[in-house]
Amino acid sequence: MKLPSGRLYLDCNATTPMAGHVAEVLARAHEQAFGNASSTYLEGRESRATLDDARGYVAALLGCEADEVIFTGSATEANHLAMTSAAHAAGNRSRALICAIEHPAVYDQRDALEGAGLRVEEIPVTPAGAVDLDCLEGLMGEDVALVCVMAAHNETGVLQPVDEVGRLCASHGAWFHCDAVQALGKVASPWASARPSTMAAAAHKLYGPKGIGALAVRRGTVISPVLVGGGQEAGRRSSTEAVPLAAAFGKACEMALHSLGYMPAKSALRDAMEEELVKARGAVIHGKAAPRLPNTSFFSISGVPGLPLAQALDELGVAVSTGSACHTGQAIESRVLGRMGVPGELQGCALRVSLGRDTTGAHVGAFCSALAQALERVTGNRDYPGKA
Ligand code: PLP
Repeated sequence: MKLPSGRLYLDCNATTPMAGHVAEVLARAHEQAFGNASSTYLEGRESRATLDDARGYVAALLGCEADEVIFTGSATEANHLAMTSAAHAAGNRSRALICAIEHPAVYDQRDALEGAGLRVEEIPVTPAGAVDLDCLEGLMGEDVALVCVMAAHNETGVLQPVDEVGRLCASHGAWFHCDAVQALGKVASPWASARPSTMAAAAHKLYGPKGIGALAVRRGTVISPVLVGGGQEAGRRSSTEAVPLAAAFGKACEMALHSLGYMPAKSALRDAMEEELVKARGAVIHGKAAPRLPNTSFFSISGVPGLPLAQALDELGVAVSTGSACHTGQAIESRVLGRMGVPGELQGCALRVSLGRDTTGAHVGAFCSALAQALERVTGNRDYPGKA
């Protein structure tokens, strides 16, 4: 998408700019719904009503009931709340299974789980970047308390077979936590089909504000609060509710539900771009053999390190990342690509392009031209690489 600054923003899996209508709702709610939603006088009741409406919109996108939604400060917090609650509820179950390519917001909770007495094991992935269901089946047992598999991968965009994961968890009585942050707003919510016990969401990935996320909690699943105090969110997450942020999140979800219908068209743009990258640059597309999010492309051009390439693109007015935003500017080695069996030299060459709702064919064309210039800057060779 083109930003008002004229820059080309192609990193929508990292975050999205707030939609205009969402910003309007946020500003209005800051003025009109400033009351404490726990207060019993008019201003409090108005805030409570705004919060209730917002919860309904978020629930509609997630596919759950409104009273199954807990607002949190972020998706990271939602993941943490779900996983620590699962550890509390483990009883005499002693193992947790975490997919090898989970986002750090899930993967790095291993210590917390181990501190709570669970042994954490990794579920391997296939070379296509999908959780290996045969391995998962082999790992499952009546001693498994928690299984974590995300719905869609933030770097490769690979849609994980979460319906099958959900069935395996149900048949073994394990808590299934699904991080659906990247899937929501791009593909249908897996809540009904995969039947996770808990599912995490973030507003800022779908044109909502930063600073608010949600955890969907299936009825009968017991949450052990991390934040205690005023007993908000039905006692599951204390702290005065961020009503304006919730209202904006609700608006973003309402808009995302409408835009779901035209997201598949983004895959045609993405596929055309990848065809060009493969033909003209010899790019290797990661995760291409699996079903993917329509907007995401993760590729490597052999011999061209991703970081300087992303920097050259930045100088040319194009924002893309080398992978998870949390890692931008950091190390070259990729846990995700490593677990997929991608050779080391290609791991350091990875670049992620993630299209937005408003990205057009002209934007993708502009990206391809900028990439040609960036490659020339990085390699000093106008014909590099693979040009006829
Ligand atoms: N899970 C996934 C799949 C993500 O892509 C992200 C953000 O990149 C997160 C969790 C964490 O979200 P936040 O940093 O907003 O808490």
